[in-house]
Amino acid sequence: KRFEDCGFAPELMRAIAKQGYEKPTTIQCQSLPIVLSGRDVIGIAKTGSGKTASFVLPMIVHIMDQPELQKEEGPIGVICAPTRELVHQIFLEAKKFAKAYGIRASAVYGGMSKLDQFKELKAGCEIVVATPGRLIDMLKMKALTMMRATYLVLDEADRMFDLGFEPQIRSIVGQIRPDRQTLLFSATMPLKVEKLAREVLSDPIRVTV
Ligand code: AMP
Repeated sequence: KRFEDCGFAPELMRAIAKQGYEKPTTIQCQSLPIVLSGRDVIGIAKTGSGKTASFVLPMIVHIMDQPELQKEEGPIGVICAPTRELVHQIFLEAKKFAKAYGIRASAVYGGMSKLDQFKELKAGCEIVVATPGRLIDMLKMKALTMMRATYLVLDEADRMFDLGFEPQIRSIVGQIRPDRQTLLFSATMPLKVEKLAREVLSDPIRVTV
């Protein structure tokens, strides 16, 4: 399998080459075609597998495919992750590929000034990468609206559950339109995560690395 087979636009291919990514990793080979087709996916994969690019690259394609949404406000892609470190890593990976298209990404997590974060979100973005608790705070403060969000990623879902974020995740999912594409990544699939997946994903395809 090659990145060329994914049908990525030349700008995106150049950005991938610039990162030194020569060929897709196993999870990318398996999930990229399915995610790009618009299907919901459950990805059982650990950090280090290249799972981040497997949802970030199709997210860029998804955003560029939504010209009718460009007029509205709020993020199109929403990514939830358990810790500020992971949020930051995903944010950096998203920025690498978003830059070529002028797509704006914001990282939202606890421990950073709420006012600064509020201002940044108010300025607008197409991608938000967030820890669940801080994203809820920002939604309550009306720093952003979810009316444009159509691509949702729950990353390291098992760790988010371990950290007690289940209610926040459910609240966030409940605020995003049902016609979204949803991806759930988890290193393990305990019963609680399996139950959430059944409730928030529609007819998902399961990919295991
Ligand atoms: P992740 O599992 O998403 O945290 O990715 C682990 C590391 O692999 C990160 O440093 C990525 O930048 C890198 N990476 C992701 N995809 C590829 C690829 N296709 N080729 C080489 N490195 C990659």
